[in-house]
Amino acid sequence: MIRVTLIRGDGIGPEITDAAVAMVEATGAPIEWDEQPAGASAIAVHSTPFPKVTLDSIRQTRVALKAPLTTPVGGGYRSVNVGMRQELDLYANIRPVRTFDGLPNRYQGVDLVVVRENTQGLYSGIEHFIDPKKDAAQAISFISRFASERVIRYAFEYAKRNHRKKVTLVHKANILKLTTGLFLEVGREVAKQYPEITFEDRIVDAMAMNLVIRPETFDVLVTTNLFGDILSDLTAGLIGGLGLAPGANHGDDVTVYEAIHGTAPDIAGRGVANPTALTLSACMMLRDIGHPDKADRLEDAVRAVIQARETVTPDLGGSASTHDFAQAVIARL
Ligand code: NAD
Repeated sequence: MIRVTLIRGDGIGPEITDAAVAMVEATGAPIEWDEQPAGASAIAVHSTPFPKVTLDSIRQTRVALKAPLTTPVGGGYRSVNVGMRQELDLYANIRPVRTFDGLPNRYQGVDLVVVRENTQGLYSGIEHFIDPKKDAAQAISFISRFASERVIRYAFEYAKRNHRKKVTLVHKANILKLTTGLFLEVGREVAKQYPEITFEDRIVDAMAMNLVIRPETFDVLVTTNLFGDILSDLTAGLIGGLGLAPGANHGDDVTVYEAIHGTAPDIAGRGVANPTALTLSACMMLRDIGHPDKADRLEDAVRAVIQARETVTPDLGGSASTHDFAQAVIARL
């Protein structure tokens, strides 16, 4: 059995986790879940949104499937998501999107992957008021050669492993000349070591437009933390929305698999959330832990249920519940 830390999360988290776990178990994957608390639901019992038991479990299993966690806006606790990525040094956030057949999408033929630097940039957590009256605040974007190199190398290695042809580095080096300029400089150096993969760079604002006009021309994107966060929501929109887009946070020793989306407080508790993104995140996990055949079967079943459009959740225009969707996928399996 392979032990996997399971975090059910907040908001729609428990609903989509139940569904995703049922679908993964239906593949027959030999997984033993080690359920651990995190997020708003952990505070009442552990007085912290990220208890040490949870961190210890992830360090031990080295694989976690995590549902979204609430991050209060403004003061209070630091974001658990950002904290977890920094604590476990999960430096590469992989966010693949591929068009779903059968959905009435504006775009067909989208098949791209955003590789986002996950520990630095404007999300370094270096933020403070600069006057006693708290009338002005400052956030510092920190970018190092070391962190840039490892995530850019990860993007090229990912491209090589997955038979992808092109890496596009996204930056704003015309304005943020030193920080994202360094990221671009490192990208150009790393690219020379991968002559078989086409390398190009784009300024982030032009990239946003190009992704909307010609998304099918992009393959692997690699970018800094904030740009990656924004662009990956955009790319999720290209294939039908946040409910469909999976992700993985890789470090050298540990990987945390999670959907891109948040806790969806507007629909939480109603049993109508789409569990696809978390389930496809679990498919990424199954591939990485040595069960690519089970991952492919599960992803094919999810895609087939979505294509048939008989048992899809309201975000995809249907009226099925989260549970019904999972049962339809399990029936296909
Ligand atoms: P959100 O992703 O939760 O929701 C945005 C919109 O997408 C909402 O209309 C929601 O109903 C819809 N949506 C999201 N996931 C869906 C799904 N699976 N099925 C159907 N519809 C879905 O973003 P938000 O409202 O900006 O954030 C809510 C909370 O989630 C905040 O506390 C935020 O900090 C947190 N958050 C957590 C993570 C994470 O844990 N990785 C990521 C993003 C946001």
